[in-house]
Amino acid sequence: MRYLILSDIHANLEALKAVLRHVRRKHFDHVLFLGDAVGYGASPNQVTGWLRSLGPEATSVRGNHDRVCAGLDGGEYFNRYARQASGWTFERLEARNLEWLRALPEGPAEVSPEVTICHGSTLDEDTYVFSSYDAQVAFSAVTQPVIFFGHTHVPSMFVLRTNPEAMSLRARLLSGRRVVVDLEEGERYLINPGSVGQPRDRDPRAAYAIYDTNARRLHLYRVLYRVEEARRRIIQAGLPPVLGDRLLYGA
Ligand code: ZN
Repeated sequence: MRYLILSDIHANLEALKAVLRHVRRKHFDHVLFLGDAVGYGASPNQVTGWLRSLGPEATSVRGNHDRVCAGLDGGEYFNRYARQASGWTFERLEARNLEWLRALPEGPAEVSPEVTICHGSTLDEDTYVFSSYDAQVAFSAVTQPVIFFGHTHVPSMFVLRTNPEAMSLRARLLSGRRVVVDLEEGERYLINPGSVGQPRDRDPRAAYAIYDTNARRLHLYRVLYRVEEARRRIIQAGLPPVLGDRLLYGA
């Protein structure tokens, strides 16, 4: 099985299109979407509509922005730019897209006995997994050896060696245009493929991953896209300009 793994698209149609173009000649069987389809960007309906069109070809979990933009909570804890964007998004979402977002399940979602997905952490969709402590907590809440998560917008990986005589937890940032990781037996993995639509690791290129379960091989890619166009459309839409500017720097 080959999974295409997408996270944190954030209504950035330009980035999503570039990823889909890049992935066109690579085979995949199923899409894993780790949440935050909308919020921040100018194309909530196009992005949600595309995800919706995948139907059973995708397994998806909700992100915190999906929850707030769909009106399921008020987003009181959001900063003012995120809150402005979620209000803007809620007002513009077509009924069928709003309905689809509202129906997205909260993670973790078990994909197979080997793989599970979540947005933030396995215990809570709003919790960020940045530190080894966060990772340890996330590992303890599920049994699958491979966990894909989003929310931080930083491509990264935690590896837990489960052999009781040599317990260890390693953390690694996964930066670069193309990164290959071979997953070992007897280890557990928490993997963030990075963000399609709002990278925050100082690399403005869109991020995504493909995981081949037979080969136990993960590919992470970074793809150039029309950042200026995404920024222009954010500003033209009346969204906070800072949400366009940050795309230029991947920050
Ligand atoms: Zn996000």
